[in-house]
Amino acid sequence: MLNSFYAKLSALFLVLIVGLGVLLATFGVRAARQYADEVEQKLNRTLAEEMVPRFEPYLRDSIDTAAIEATIQDMTGINRRIEIYLLERDGDLKASFAVPDTELEQRRVDLGPVHRFMEGDDLPILGDDPMAVGTKRPFSAAHIEIMGRTGCYLYVILGSEQYASVASMVGESYILQTALWGLGLIVLIAAGVGLLLFRRLTQRLRGMQAVVADFEQGDFERRVEVASRDEIGRLGECFNRMADNLEDTMEELRQADRMRRELVANVSHDLRSPIASIQGYLETVSMKDGTLEPEERQRYITTALQNAKRLNTLVSELFELSKLETKQVDPTIEPFPIAELVQDVVMQYEPRAEEQGIDVQAELPEHHARVEADIGLVERVLSNLIDNAIHYTPDGGEVRVRLDNERDEVCVEVSDTGPGIPEDDLPHIFERFYRVDKSRDRDKGGAGLGLAIAKTILELHEQTLEVESTVGKGTTFRFRLPVERVGETV
Ligand code: ADP
Repeated sequence: MLNSFYAKLSALFLVLIVGLGVLLATFGVRAARQYADEVEQKLNRTLAEEMVPRFEPYLRDSIDTAAIEATIQDMTGINRRIEIYLLERDGDLKASFAVPDTELEQRRVDLGPVHRFMEGDDLPILGDDPMAVGTKRPFSAAHIEIMGRTGCYLYVILGSEQYASVASMVGESYILQTALWGLGLIVLIAAGVGLLLFRRLTQRLRGMQAVVADFEQGDFERRVEVASRDEIGRLGECFNRMADNLEDTMEELRQADRMRRELVANVSHDLRSPIASIQGYLETVSMKDGTLEPEERQRYITTALQNAKRLNTLVSELFELSKLETKQVDPTIEPFPIAELVQDVVMQYEPRAEEQGIDVQAELPEHHARVEADIGLVERVLSNLIDNAIHYTPDGGEVRVRLDNERDEVCVEVSDTGPGIPEDDLPHIFERFYRVDKSRDRDKGGAGLGLAIAKTILELHEQTLEVESTVGKGTTFRFRLPVERVGETV
């Protein structure tokens, strides 16, 4: 039963609150008792002193007990509960009045408290009660002369039987009883309210536990309802965040798995068709070797060669992309003039563009900035973008490579007047093996890896590759590189 957090908390709380109640009651009763002692002693501070002149006449030659008892009766009335003792100078009991001699348990009184009382110390001062060993009582005391011996003491124990025990004191006092009942009631109410609060608090924990258990069972949609900002609320928030992250990670894993399957399917498909084609052409050449016209034979071999080249490109690009994605390529970041690089790459593509009747040109700003990046990798990005632009732009089209100096970046834009990319395809063109027109591009040799490589390279530079395209008008790819930080280079 004590396994539940609520039961543990409640048990602890009840023990604490009952303990606290008992402590409070004990202290309260003790304080009340001390207060009563103090009042009694203050009211009767001079009692002993007042008795001395009335007793001394009966103590001159001998102790006239009967006369003294009569005087006491006379002075105090019948109900007054006091004990009166005559003490020697050393505290030994000489005589006692208003007390049967047989009831005396102690025949000597500690004079320390008596002296402090007579010196006027703060009250209450409690002294020995000869009728009860070890019990301290309020008293009044004064010097008295006994049979010619001065310096003896008249020692009066006040209210001796009044508070013989705590129980009798509580039993007799209406105020104390009421106070104790009140305290009991407060303890009861506090316990009730505390238990209710704990129940509410642990209910929230139980609710959270149910959610976590559901989550564990596979209900990944379950989330904790967070209604407050306290520790439990924050724990709920933490759980929700953790659940979100876990769900995201699982989704990523699922997607990675899907992509891996797709990749295997795509790779095998893309490898199979050029291999099949090479095999087919070579078989034909080998079978019909004697009957084939030289031109026909040449055509077959050229096609087989083209397919072999495609195969080679595909395998190299795959290898390159996999190295980039697994971060096996560590970019060497160094400053270089981007305008010169753009010019070089454009120049490399000029002959091919001319062949296709396409005008390719670089548009550079007057001020040539230097950027910080891996020159080899940036060249690869530019080549892929310019290659695509020339590849997809029809005869008579234009390809422009523009550089723009921005605040602390240089913006590189490769735009063409090609067919453009449909809006639905735009989000996917950076995926591996994604082709807008699958059949056409495969025949033309595009593997669908060029943009994936370019995007991954820019990600290694903490940059993004953006695309804007209008079908029938053209496409623009854009990325940025940081300008060289002057003063920080070696
Ligand atoms: P591919 O090897 O097929 O060119 P890419 O990853 O370079 O592979 O490009 C992915 C797809 O994006 C291409 O198949 C093509 O459909 C489309 N694409 C890329 N660049 C352009 C462009 N400049 N104009 C039109 N379509 C383009």
